[in-house]
Amino acid sequence: MDLFSADISNLEPKKRIDELRNLIRKYDYAYYVESQPLISDYDYDKLYKELEALEKKFPEYYDKNSPTQRVGEQPLKEFTTVEHKIPMLSLANTYSKQEVLDFERRVKDILGNQLVKYVTELKYDGLAVSIIYKNGEYILAVTRGDGFRGDDVTANIRTIKNLPLKVKEVVYKGIILQNFEVRGEIYMLESDFLKINQERIENDEKPYANPRNLASGTLKSLDPHYVATRPLKLVSYYLFSEEVQLESQFENIELLKKLGFPVGYSYQLCQNIQEVFDYIEIWEKKRSSLPFQIDGIVVKVDSLKQQSILGTIARSARWAIAYKYEPEKAHTKLLDITLQVGRTGVVTPVAELEPVFLAGSTISRATLHNYDYIQEKDIRIGDIVIIEKGGDVIPKVSGVVIEKRLSNSMKYIFPEYCPCELKTHLIRPEGEANYYCNHPECPWQIRKRIEHFVSRNAMNIEGLGEKIIDKFVSLGKLKNIADIYELHKLRDELIKLEKFGEKSIDNLLNSINASKKQPFNKVIYALGIRFIGEGASNILALNFRNINNLRKATIDDLTSIHEIGIKMAQSVVDFFADPKEQEIINRLILYGVNFSLSDEEISMKSNQLAGQTFVLTGELSSMTRNEAKQRIEALGGKVTSSVSKNTSYVIVGENPGSKYKDALKLGTTILNEQEFIENILNKQ
Ligand code: NAD
Repeated sequence: MDLFSADISNLEPKKRIDELRNLIRKYDYAYYVESQPLISDYDYDKLYKELEALEKKFPEYYDKNSPTQRVGEQPLKEFTTVEHKIPMLSLANTYSKQEVLDFERRVKDILGNQLVKYVTELKYDGLAVSIIYKNGEYILAVTRGDGFRGDDVTANIRTIKNLPLKVKEVVYKGIILQNFEVRGEIYMLESDFLKINQERIENDEKPYANPRNLASGTLKSLDPHYVATRPLKLVSYYLFSEEVQLESQFENIELLKKLGFPVGYSYQLCQNIQEVFDYIEIWEKKRSSLPFQIDGIVVKVDSLKQQSILGTIARSARWAIAYKYEPEKAHTKLLDITLQVGRTGVVTPVAELEPVFLAGSTISRATLHNYDYIQEKDIRIGDIVIIEKGGDVIPKVSGVVIEKRLSNSMKYIFPEYCPCELKTHLIRPEGEANYYCNHPECPWQIRKRIEHFVSRNAMNIEGLGEKIIDKFVSLGKLKNIADIYELHKLRDELIKLEKFGEKSIDNLLNSINASKKQPFNKVIYALGIRFIGEGASNILALNFRNINNLRKATIDDLTSIHEIGIKMAQSVVDFFADPKEQEIINRLILYGVNFSLSDEEISMKSNQLAGQTFVLTGELSSMTRNEAKQRIEALGGKVTSSVSKNTSYVIVGENPGSKYKDALKLGTTILNEQEFIENILNKQ
């Protein structure tokens, strides 16, 4: 091969290396900074391994900025950066038992014929934090950050209930252990995760993919009060003190326990690698019974002396490896593909499965995303499909077991018509992955729309749950949201319906009547206009003040409001231009639903921040500091230039100045830009 062709042959790997580096940077950002991963950990690890292998094979493409050369994330600008005394590295990880054997061989190569014991620990899927104690008291907590420097999250970690703020007295080698560093994982129970995510879904907020992302998103908040509302937990697995020579990892865990720290639910001292494998296998079977998520087992050389001989390589220690479990998967038969219609008409395919037990629950339905996904994976009805739970709690169909495909499996063609009895022709707007049903009387949409209309943050009508709505819609008693206000005419008829008594119907009718007084912003939200959530409804109410102004608003009127973008504006205009919606609104007006802000409400809203003092520091990205000041003042708040005991909030943008440090010193509530917009400006 001449030089020229060698060059050409090397072009391809370089292209792939660049592609992989870019992809991994993108995924790292979504995972570490935004806490919203774009792919599963398993798929991410596959790409990462591919990049590592290519970089090893083609060392000429070494780049110190490659994602393989760094740990985790950059420290965030909003927090004070703190340097770690001992770097907080990552763990080499593998999904292969052979690689665990290779790890043992490397350890033995270096340690010669010394006896090596291992400690196996559950690998909690959370985020690492270093915690410093002085004179037995908690003084500092820092995230891993880039491994060398992390964020000072002392105030946030202080809110964690199982963290000891003062440790118990433990004497080790004649010294009272009081000055040391502990490392551990911040995590959340799966049940707490599900509860919080459900609330987010109900509030039209994007749910988190898994408990780890929720925990990391929470820890990034600048408001410790908010962090305190989230049930985060600590588990500790590392102890280091400059005052005394500690001996072994197993002993350290026992010391942590004595000092009052929560330690892993299970850990074991293994005499050899076979015991390590036994432990891995036991927990592979039992992991779904744990109330929190683990993604594998960490294997550590027990002796700290041996650990220091083994040392570290680029981003991980040579004395430890994480054996990761593959995402939990099950095979089952795809019985059918049905459609689900959302309140805005979006139609999504759902897999109807032969019930199968996976990771702690029985699954009979799973998401199929959209038609493109079904086609890409060639998923056919009758196929044996692979169901995955992975790090994500919501199950998905991840593929087909092609070898088991039968000749009668059926290709799925996306239906042309909506599954409801009106059989509306579905449309797929250009550039969108979803199909929509645009019929305003589609009973499936109506059910969802009514559910939204009556929900707590909208009209707050009690007694109209999912099942009752379903029944009333099926019986033709409810054809749209306006019909709710005619239900009183059917009182006698409804009382006779199965399972309804006089009392429950009267309670319902009273609640319907009371809902007419809901504030205008809640009514706008209840209408269910696409892209108009609670915050935007509040802004529309304040700017237009009544329904007549709002329904006359043009795109220009709407986009002249800072928070309303073109997509929202177009959606509002389209909504009010629709004759069917106009008819519904006219009826709601007639029934006495509140469609304006009273002078009192306006003055209340404009005095909403009365008595509260704000300090702004750093650059905001969605508005200038001056605009922020005007908006605070429009709501009756005061903006001052320095932080004092009387300051209610410090709003921190990019590159904050010394006011941020002052706020930390005084313990003033600190909000980042997003929290400022959501919790102060858009709050009703
Ligand atoms: P890691 O999570 O694989 O392992 C290291 C971490 O394990 C430590 O920092 C510590 O926080 C934790 N840990 C839990 N229990 C422990 C114990 N008993 N002892 C020691 N450590 C323990 O590595 P990482 O560097 O934190 O993250 C890399 C991983 O994150 C990737 O392998 C991938 O799975 C995931 N990731 C996913 C995406 C995505 O888009 N899905 C993106 C980036 C990273």
